[in-house]
Amino acid sequence: MAEAALPALRHLPSVDRLLRHPDMAAVVETYGRAEATQAVRETLAVLRQDLRSGASPDETMIVASVLSRLAARAGARLKPLFNLTGTVLHTNLGRAILAEEAIEAATAAMRHAVSLEFDLENGKRGERDDHVRALVCELTGAEDATLVNNNAAAVLLVLNTLSQGRESIVSRGELIEIGGAFRMPEIMARAGARLHEVGTTNRTHVRDYVNAIGPETGLILKVHTSNYRIEGFTAEVEPRDLAKIAHQHNVPLVNDLGSGTLIDLSRLGLRKEPTVREAVEEGADLVTFSGDKLLGGPQAGFIVGRKDLIAAINRNPMKRALRVDKVRLAACEATLKLYRDPDRLARRLPTMRFLARPLEEIHKQAARLVPVLDDITGPDVSVECVSCQSQIGSGALPLDTIPSFGLSLSPKRGGRAVEELGAAFRSLPWPVIGRVAEGAFVLDLRCLEDEAVFRQNLASLRLRAAP
Ligand SMILES: *Cc1c(COP(=O)(O)O)cnc(C)c1O
Repeated sequence: MAEAALPALRHLPSVDRLLRHPDMAAVVETYGRAEATQAVRETLAVLRQDLRSGASPDETMIVASVLSRLAARAGARLKPLFNLTGTVLHTNLGRAILAEEAIEAATAAMRHAVSLEFDLENGKRGERDDHVRALVCELTGAEDATLVNNNAAAVLLVLNTLSQGRESIVSRGELIEIGGAFRMPEIMARAGARLHEVGTTNRTHVRDYVNAIGPETGLILKVHTSNYRIEGFTAEVEPRDLAKIAHQHNVPLVNDLGSGTLIDLSRLGLRKEPTVREAVEEGADLVTFSGDKLLGGPQAGFIVGRKDLIAAINRNPMKRALRVDKVRLAACEATLKLYRDPDRLARRLPTMRFLARPLEEIHKQAARLVPVLDDITGPDVSVECVSCQSQIGSGALPLDTIPSFGLSLSPKRGGRAVEELGAAFRSLPWPVIGRVAEGAFVLDLRCLEDEAVFRQNLASLRLRAAP
């Protein structure tokens, strides 16, 4: 149909007229003229389509539609949310939540000029690593330390520095792929190192490493098999023995711990993971680990170990491309400082606080929230307190789960009702992310701290009524 044949189209208010609408003055003030004009144009474009299908909006409705378009454009896409998936360190949800001390330090670094590469004692140029080096060495027993963008960067940089054009020896049982296409063989290729695989998927022996060492060897790499475990008829060479082999042949041993923890997790009632200090003591020349996994800090990659090797890493021009900024450095320093007082760590560091949270406390919270959720979701959904299993996430203790409690929401009608429930919770002002298990939408409450905000937030829940 020709446009001329649709009188309604010709009667649409003009952009200028809408911008002069009395309700628009405050809007232009809030969002700016350019943004408001853009929203008016987009709204009119949509309306032209609607008019063709017979709708007849009045001017007030058009202005309301402009307003909601502006509000949606102004809201952040990167939204704070409630991680009730039961995975404490969820990579897709940003891993560790920072301690207040780290948040304050990061905020101050954002707001002010800082002594990033400036030595306040002698007034000369300093190094950005200086702010955490002593602390990391104190906490790990390492000789020296440096910091880069993340652990993937740490591994890349170590391989490139020590093994470019040479061979890196790795057990076939440790050629891992971590989520997001971090595959050890590919990282190695990009680092310019040649992969020399030894052993088999399930068994690698001392002789496999020894036979592989030659004039081309740049390093031996031990990789923590973060997200899987090989069980049954298996054999791997312990880091201590690997260090002996490496040093007999004058080759550095690098241990990529992945998550890497600075404390013995059995303090929190979890199974023990190798600590960074142990990896250093066992004789690794360099150890790499993440800042935002079990350590509980911002995204970062730590490289600790021998002074001469750290010096070589710092001379690598690639280091510049992978370095951390002042904001994360400030957060790292503040996070590491908390480790000087291990007794209060489980209170001050959110990751540890979540992992150590008493089951009884989670249970009480679940019992408190059942009637609240029941009230909000109405008769179409049944709400129950259920026991469930949390995970650490990010490849730490992949097979271990921690008993927890949660809310199970089961829609009484079938079809896609569970998915719709999940979508409704995701569309809250603070999206609530749970998981779907056996036809129910489950919210694991282990990581729910701000119950007041959670309750307020739920007031906006809009569920589709059962037909
Ligand atoms: C997680 C992990 C990495 C990558 O660390 P990011 O901090 O995510 O870059 C590398 N190696 C291992 C063994 C890991 O578990």
